[in-house]
Amino acid sequence: MLFDPRPKEKREDIFDREQEIEMIKNSAKEYPITLILGIRRVGKSSLLKVVLNELKSGIYIDVRKLHFDSGGWITNESLLKAFENGLNSLSHPIKREVFQYLKRVKGVSIAGLQLNFEPEVSLSEILEALNKRSRIIIAFDEAQYLRFYGRRGGKEFLTLVAYAYDNLPNISFIFTGSEIGLLHDLIGVSDYESPLYGRIYNEITISPFSKELSIEFLRQGFVEAGIKIREEEIEHAAELLGGIPGWLVEFGYNYIKTKSFENAIKGVIRKAEKFLEGELRELEKRSPRYILVLRAISMGFDRWALIKEFLESRSGKIPNSRLAAILEGLQKMSWINAEYRDGGKRYKIIDPVIERVIKE
Ligand code: ADP
Ligand code: MG
Repeated sequence: MLFDPRPKEKREDIFDREQEIEMIKNSAKEYPITLILGIRRVGKSSLLKVVLNELKSGIYIDVRKLHFDSGGWITNESLLKAFENGLNSLSHPIKREVFQYLKRVKGVSIAGLQLNFEPEVSLSEILEALNKRSRIIIAFDEAQYLRFYGRRGGKEFLTLVAYAYDNLPNISFIFTGSEIGLLHDLIGVSDYESPLYGRIYNEITISPFSKELSIEFLRQGFVEAGIKIREEEIEHAAELLGGIPGWLVEFGYNYIKTKSFENAIKGVIRKAEKFLEGELRELEKRSPRYILVLRAISMGFDRWALIKEFLESRSGKIPNSRLAAILEGLQKMSWINAEYRDGGKRYKIIDPVIERVIKE
């Protein structure tokens, strides 16, 4: 169902995106590292899962979940557990084949078709064993959170990826990221201190739908659900929701339940609030100024001088270098972007739904 708000895993539940799915598939075959980039709720996890399901030889690791479940740090133990779960979820014939190789690794035990890692298992030995089979994909969803692995901002993990890149041609990594600048910083292929320095990767960007495509998506979803809705309401929703599939789906889902445009939009806002809760709290912990700057921009204070004035009226004097760092941070986390308009730099919250939530 197109308006099912859960992440999609099957192609028939995905609207459009044929090209993106093909690109991800080809990339996973041709490149040792693929990045899937795009703002929150644009459909990265869904597309990744569809590809993994269709290629049948990939394991999926939700790094954001690892990070939140373990109270902020990602331990070796939780990463091993995620690998273990991923391998146990492989489909049957492949699982049997892969386990033949894995059972020789120290610290791996297999009972029936369930594999178990002892704490001493080494991930590089696991990867070496997986490499003996034909191509296998290891996908890290919201991979920018890998910076919370180990004490060196994820570098120990990247050393493992670099080792696989250089020596294990059958292993292919996919990293997705909503916080695009942070993911680039983590991978750091142009940073000579990064373990992945100089390696090649392929980048695929998932963009929001155009307004026309959003309208088409909504129409199709309502036809599928057998619900009548006025054309103006579809157009208005497409206008408000910025082409972001996650919000379009949420709108459709709520409209079907309530048959009311206003309530459906309210439902989207409520969902967005809940979705943002964790991320905004995290941001606030790092500095309450992030939130203040987001609020300023959401209220239309979109230029440097205006943002600075707003901030200083609420939390006292702020040096220019500090404000610059906050604005750069928000851009790297893909909350805002900057463009030159009317002779000056203007900041904007990328997602119109998030903009509304923050303004309220
Ligand atoms: P991301 O991982 O980029 O944050 P998700 O894959 O979780 O985004 O997508 C958000 C929601 O939007 C999903 O739960 C899914 O229901 C829906 N969705 C995303 N892309 C599509 C699409 N092309 N067709 C139908 N639903 C989609
Ligand atoms: Mg996701």
